[in-house]
Amino acid sequence: VDSRKSWIRQPIVVVLGHVDHGKTTLLDKIRGTAVTKKEPGEITQHVGASIVPASVLRKVAEPLKKYFPKVKIEIPGLLFVDTPGHELFSNLRRRGGSVADIAILVVDIMEGFKPQTWESIQILKERKVPFIVAANKIDRIPGWKSNPDQPFLETIRKQSPHIVNRLEELIYRLISQLYEAGFMAERFDRVKDFRTTVAIVPVSAKTGEGVPELLALLTGLVQRFMKKRLVTSDEPGKGVVLEVKEEPGLGTTIDVIIYDGVIHRGDTIVVGGKDKPIVTKVRALLMPRPLQDMRAHEGKFVSVEQVVAATGVKISAPDLDDALAGSPIFVVSSEDKLEEYIKLVREEIESIRIKTDNIGVVVKADTLGTLEAVVEALKRENIPVRLADVGPVSKNDVLEASVSEKQRPEYGVIIVFNVKVLHEAEEYAARENVKIFRHNIIYKLIEDYIGWVKQLREQEK
Ligand code: GDP
Ligand code: MG
Repeated sequence: VDSRKSWIRQPIVVVLGHVDHGKTTLLDKIRGTAVTKKEPGEITQHVGASIVPASVLRKVAEPLKKYFPKVKIEIPGLLFVDTPGHELFSNLRRRGGSVADIAILVVDIMEGFKPQTWESIQILKERKVPFIVAANKIDRIPGWKSNPDQPFLETIRKQSPHIVNRLEELIYRLISQLYEAGFMAERFDRVKDFRTTVAIVPVSAKTGEGVPELLALLTGLVQRFMKKRLVTSDEPGKGVVLEVKEEPGLGTTIDVIIYDGVIHRGDTIVVGGKDKPIVTKVRALLMPRPLQDMRAHEGKFVSVEQVVAATGVKISAPDLDDALAGSPIFVVSSEDKLEEYIKLVREEIESIRIKTDNIGVVVKADTLGTLEAVVEALKRENIPVRLADVGPVSKNDVLEASVSEKQRPEYGVIIVFNVKVLHEAEEYAARENVKIFRHNIIYKLIEDYIGWVKQLREQEK
């Protein structure tokens, strides 16, 4: 065991927040910073993720030296999961927690908290993911003078006093809303104890103001409080399936975040499938081809021999058609351990699926991660679940819902997230008086259902 090589891996960072508050713009800004400031040859693009290398963190932190002289960069960089939003975050699941080490909660400072902000906080709390708040769009404060890409602590000194006051008021509103959500919060440069207080960093994703502090703070926090969690070694890899994707010429592939250990081409892996765990062999590990190497006859990806944590990688292998996003993936260390890994994966998936004889609602979702998130949201509202599974709504789901419907009409429903309702199921549901709720935003889905239940109760009175 002592011969194992170990290292500190990149922390895995996710971006969450309400629609239009600037998640995509912020990620683009960070990605752009990484590309323009990296050293030649450094790779910043992964599959489903981007790396901000340590060299970039150093350059970005340079102007902050006079404010934070002690920050020394020990991590190899930060790994940002590229597609923001709840759905992908849900798939970053790991038993009792998340593969994400830290999150940025983006809030439009002009708007304050919105429904998905509250929902994001709830999810972060449940998955025990620490977070900082990016108070975005400071450039939209009327009269704000933009100083592109400068630290917040520099640009704030160049604003007139009434703008500074306005900013303070807006930050104070966020502090109150965070308090309502159960968190102490403070502007980042006034935080005394980062273990008990959420840091708010005023930024503009558009002009880049405050982004240096955002990156420096993420770095500082993970180095100070999470180093243990970030230590990994050349043991058999562990990861999570972010997405299952069809690729021309490759068939069904899985995009995976490896958060621990190493995976090699040819390794045997176990991953969760629709009916049972899938055991297969890695045919290829694929990374994005750097833009400058793009040639017409070559594909989007280059094949590599191995990757180490933390990495976003596409895995091509036989038999992945039934793979489930949100499932764990394990490299099998030796053949005699195969059964053990199969059992691990099976148990984990069984812990999310629900099949009971209780009176309750039926839930269908597109991935294990979203299924778990919808079920958790229902549990928060004390709504019982009879059946929860991944896949399209079938006649059998309607049958199950109609059993509930006969005893408790308010539970005789199917709650559908991002999957199809088969035609025959739709017809059958109409006949059986089983109502189907669908929405591609989790809180809206639950809200619609709760609203309908209220209406039902009003009618009964
Ligand atoms: P998302 O839905 O959270 O991913 O939000 P987007 O990144 O798509 O941003 C929504 C809109 O807000 C877009 O029109 C962006 O250009 C704009 N936006 C995002 N960040 C900023 C910012 O810091 N300042 C300004 N002025 N506009 C921004
Ligand atoms: Mg977006």
